[in-house]
Formats: sequence, C-alpha cells, structure tokens
Amino acid sequence: HTPIHIVGGGMAGSEAAWQAAEAGAKVVLHEMRPVRKTEAHQTDGLAELVCSNSFRSDDAATNAVGLLHEEMRRANSLIMAMGDAHQVPAGGALAVDREAFSRAVTQKLEAHPNIEIRREEIAGLPPQEWDSVIIATGPLTSPALAKAVHDLTGEGELAFFDAIAPIVYAETIDMDIAWKQSRYDKGDTEEDRAAYINCPMNREQYHAFVEALLAAPQTEFKDWEKDTPYFEACLPIEVMAERGVETLRHGPMKPRGLTNAHDPQTKPYAVVQLRQDNALGTLFNMVGFQTKLKYGAQTDIFRMIPGLENASFARLGGIHRNTFLNSPKLLDGVMRLKARPSLRFAGQITGVEGYVESAAMGLLAGRFAAAERLGRDVTPPPATTALGSLLTHITTGHVPGKKGAFQPMNVNFGLFPDIEGPARGPNGERLRGKAKSDAKKRAQSARALNDVDAWLGLKAQAAE
Ligand code: FAD
Repeated sequence: HTPIHIVGGGMAGSEAAWQAAEAGAKVVLHEMRPVRKTEAHQTDGLAELVCSNSFRSDDAATNAVGLLHEEMRRANSLIMAMGDAHQVPAGGALAVDREAFSRAVTQKLEAHPNIEIRREEIAGLPPQEWDSVIIATGPLTSPALAKAVHDLTGEGELAFFDAIAPIVYAETIDMDIAWKQSRYDKGDTEEDRAAYINCPMNREQYHAFVEALLAAPQTEFKDWEKDTPYFEACLPIEVMAERGVETLRHGPMKPRGLTNAHDPQTKPYAVVQLRQDNALGTLFNMVGFQTKLKYGAQTDIFRMIPGLENASFARLGGIHRNTFLNSPKLLDGVMRLKARPSLRFAGQITGVEGYVESAAMGLLAGRFAAAERLGRDVTPPPATTALGSLLTHITTGHVPGKKGAFQPMNVNFGLFPDIEGPARGPNGERLRGKAKSDAKKRAQSARALNDVDAWLGLKAQAAE
C-alpha cells in the first residue's frame, strides 16, 4: 500500500498515526519540530502538552470528558494508554507527567513497524500525489500551511483566533425572569421571532454589573492580540466597559426592540441576549460577551445577571490564538475536505477544544483513513457516544440558518442527544436538581458505552 501521510505529530496526529498503523496501514508522520518551533511548544517530543498537564475529569459516569477517556481506551487509544501509564496524583482528574508521557508516545510511534517519522515542515498544501493525507497541525499551524489552507478553503472559512462568548446550559436559565423574543420581533416564523432568550436589567443592576466587570481580574493580552486588526470587531466586554459606563448599554446589552414578557409595562434598562448554540437547543451563548476575565470571576459576575443566578456554563469566555476551520461547511461526515477529499483534518483545527478532544478526532481520522486505504467500510461512531457527539459537532455543529455560529467546543453532555433520565432514585425518592441531572448523565453515559462497544465490534467479539 502507499502510505497515509499525517502532518503534525501533536495530540491528534500521534493518535491518528497509531490508529492507522494498528489497523494495518503504512503511515508517514511529518512533524516540523525541532526544525521549526511554534510559540507554545518547548520540546521536540511528539504529543507535547503545551500548557496544563491535565486530561481533566476521569469520571466516565457523570462527566463527558471522563466518558470520552473510557471510549478511547476501548478503542485502543495510544494517548490514553500512555496517559494512564504516566499519571500523577490529581484527585478525580487524570493528570500526567508531561515529559514521561510525551517520551512514551514518541517511543511507541518510532518503534511501530508501519510508521516512519520525518522531521520537516509541510510548508504549503501537500503534494497532489499524496492521495491520503491527515492534517493535524493544531491551533498553532505554521503560517505557510495556514495560508495555503486559507487560500484553498476561501475567505473567512479559516479562523486565526478564538473570541468565545460563554455558553450556558439552557435548562439552567430561569425562564420566570428571562423570556424568548427576537429584537423587534424579527423573523419569518414563530420560531424565528422567539429565537433569543433575554435577561432584563434595571438601572441599579446594570451599574452594579459594570462595576463588577471593571473590578474583576483579567488575563493578560499577548502581543499578537494587540496587533490583530480584526480585534476591534469583537472587543472583550470588560474593554467595552472601560470605555464608559453606558458603552455596553449601547452595544451588546442594548434594550431596544425588546419587551419583557413578564412585565411589559417596565422598560428594561439593559438586556443580555442569549442565542441558540446547537441544533438540539440545549446550549445558548451570551451574545457579544467575549471576554478575557479569569474563569472564577466570569461565573461570579455572569450569575449577577437576572435569570442566570443558577446558570451552569458549558464553556466560559476567552480569546486566544487558534487556527480552526469552518468545519460544518467544509468537511464531510468523515472529516474529509469536500473540495479535496484526499485531505482529511483532525484535532483542534477541526473545531474541537482540548487535549483529549483533539486526540479523539485524531483517533477517528486515523481509523477512517486506514479503513478507506484497506478497502474496509468507513463507519462513523453513533451520535450517542462522546466520540460521535464531537464528530457531529464539527460536521454539523452550526445552528441551521444562523451564519457564523460555529465555535470550537470541549466535549459536554449538551452535545449528546437527549435522553429521559430516571425520575426517582434507588430508594424511590423523587430526584431534583443536581441529583436529577447526574442521573440523566449516568443514563447518557451508559447508553454511550453500550453503543461504542457495538461500534467497535466488542460486543460481537464477547459473544463469540
Ligand atoms: P498540537 O498538539 O499543537 O499538534 C500540532 C503539531 O503540528 C505540533 O507538534 C506542531 O509542531 C506541528 N505542526 C504545525 N504546523 C506544521 C507543519 N506545517 N508541518 C509539520 N508540522 C506542523 N488544551 C487543554 O486541554 N489543556 C490546556 O491546558 C491547553 N492549553 C493550551 C495552551 C495553548 C497556548 C494553546 C495554543 C492550546 C491549548 N490547549 C489546551 C488546546 C489544545 O488542546 C492543544 O493545543 C492540543 O495540543 C491540540 O492538539 P492538536 O493535535 O490539534 O495540535
């Protein structure tokens, strides 16, 4: 067989190489370090962890990333096997000795008979004669390759930084205070006219909110951020607040064209709008609320917003360098570029977020590419699994009809299809609050593990 070429030996590329090689395909892995560095990587090791050393929660029953760990272990993941082998104590989380971990991944890949590693930058589109390529060059993709991908995919389809507004679980918004309405009741359908969730503020609440924003600890701006010309288009809310007390009220928090359904007589002084963020309608993002506030400060301050007092966040806001594709538009269901199907993408560049999620997309890309190469069926994992829910997010993860809504995501239960959780606990007691939502997560997790085993053929093997 001619080899599968994998560009980038980070979290995704390392896992993709392993999966494809284990399936029986030949692999050439191209990693530019140490020939060329990124602004975050420090070593020449494969699968280097650029920041924290944590794979986050290892609880498969009630935490989506813990569930993803378990699915990947069952799928023979190299990243999980080496993570488990080199873990350090971290309570319920899986944290690793970063150097031992990276060294072990590098050694495993170097020793694999189906893998050849070349230390070189692919500084443009891969040659046409490579008929199966996985691009896994990550959030800090080298500029030459980023430009080539940008030119191939078209203006505006490759982002270079991430300005993220916080995302809230819809079920934690208090709809006795908030209401659904689009500004000026715009829209052709009933659904469109009620597309946004609105949280009202009176004068005192608004001023207290702005004061809290100004007092809150922020993360530093990096040089590239100050120099980015399109930065003005998405200023962090705390920067807007610094420009004047009324600035937000004339910007993202303007109350015009909105009537409080619970109190039509009183005009709100300011309004925070939330927009549907996933097709299932389980997640809503806070419109215009990109921010560089520290995470702890964000939850405290956003819970001051009427209706969000008990909000639970699927993701907090942030702004950082991140190269990622408008995947739902550009990629097919098995992560190939529609415009050039010999190119497949994996990892953070596809619009997932996090070490484990990036490795997970590498796992899928490696399996898909190998199956294609070896003439086997290419079967995506069911949407009910953590692997499948991430794949669904990157291949369809925009809200239909709403432009520009695609944003990178960590795995979370809001991406999974809904399930009816148990109403009562083991002693017949009626479940409420956290106990109820944990019971539902357990049901989603059990369904996922059952379905991932079926996808992997593990159940069939067990029966033989
Ligand atoms: P990477 O792991 O970055 O791998 C990409 C590889 O491709 C690199 O080895 C790079 O050298 C190589 N490469 C790039 N261009 C080329 C080219 N043209 N030719 C050949 N090789 C190339 N996630 C977390 O879960 N926890 C964190 O604490 C965390 N911190 C982060 C901090 C920073 C500064 C950044 C940028 C991201 C962080 N992330 C974090 C997000 C993300 O999980 C990691 O970036 C993760 O490593 C992404 O995996 P990846 O395989 O997609 O990319």
